[in-house]
Amino acid sequence: MPKYINYSQKLKLSNIQITYFCSMEFSSKLLEKSVNEMAQLPGIGKRTALRLMLYLLKQPIEQTQYLSDALLTMRSEIKFCTSCHNISDNDVCEICSNASRNHRLICIVEDVRDVMAIENTNQFKGVYHVLGGKISPIDGIGPSHLNISSLIEKVKREGVDEIIFALSSTMEGDTTNFYIYKQLTGLNIKTSTIARGIAVGDELEYADEVTLGRSIVNRVPFENSLKIT
Ligand SMILES: [Zn+2]
Repeated sequence: MPKYINYSQKLKLSNIQITYFCSMEFSSKLLEKSVNEMAQLPGIGKRTALRLMLYLLKQPIEQTQYLSDALLTMRSEIKFCTSCHNISDNDVCEICSNASRNHRLICIVEDVRDVMAIENTNQFKGVYHVLGGKISPIDGIGPSHLNISSLIEKVKREGVDEIIFALSSTMEGDTTNFYIYKQLTGLNIKTSTIARGIAVGDELEYADEVTLGRSIVNRVPFENSLKIT
């Protein structure tokens, strides 16, 4: 075995590895099917899928049963809150049905993970509105694809004191904020945006709890963010 492997040898080795992983030869069609299904999930390649399946095969069959039951029940029974579009077990989520929350203070977020991140800070006692994404013409996502009209209707119907924009500070996030801000014109609602302790381009869910908590407490009027840009 040579001590040093030169570049072309390395290339050969990696090619062999790539070929091996791309064309896995399965001794069982059942295993192959489950690996292929698992590998459809984002962030899970075939190697990881195979490792997970082999792990399950070593465990008692009940573990696979619990896992498949949990996935099926979750997929078939989970709901989206009719008020804020957060994921919920009931028609109205626990946050929206909590009378001690301030229902006149709405924090607008992109998705459910942002609700979880902000809830973890324990700094916000209002309610949320989950848009389900950001306006992104390049990806074919326009305002009608997001939960924006239900927000405007809710605001007009129920009355709101303040709306906090808590989308990530990307071009798509800023575009979405501005679109909603314009929709709110004339409704006499205070609008603010989370303080930018969060770096431009950062996704909310990756901000640490203290930074995110502070950025909500120290939020700034939305108009100020327009002057900066
Ligand atoms: Zn809700």
